[in-house]
Amino acid sequence: MSTKSFDAVLEANNQYARNFGEKGKLAMPPARHFAILTCMDARLDPAKYAGLAEGDAHVLRNAGGRATDDAIRSLVISHKLLGTNEWFVIHHTNCGMETFSDEIMSTLLDDNLATANFDGKAWSNPKHGGGSVCGHFIN
Ligand SMILES: [Zn+2]
Repeated sequence: MSTKSFDAVLEANNQYARNFGEKGKLAMPPARHFAILTCMDARLDPAKYAGLAEGDAHVLRNAGGRATDDAIRSLVISHKLLGTNEWFVIHHTNCGMETFSDEIMSTLLDDNLATANFDGKAWSNPKHGGGSVCGHFIN
């Protein structure tokens, strides 16, 4: 089954791959010997804000640019096996992670699993029921 988004991403990827050219010969270790851990915020483009091209650096992203166990695992691999010698943790203004706490997330997920709404001050569920206690294990 295909979606409109999937088709668009697939087409963009096909075009990207067709134009990849000599970049296919880049070495696996990052040429600029650094890694960036940053937020997954869709408004941010690490390649643009850090002046990166393919092959330059490792870029790790998660909600809030947190140094989670998984992010640290990747950074250790980046250094130990791929030669990075600097890591930058880059946060940003107006991060969505500033809008809720672990308690708010757990409460929302306990109630319902659909995407919540944010009115600029507080989060709420558009409908109720069908939630999960698993939200208590997300932090
Ligand atoms: Zn953010």
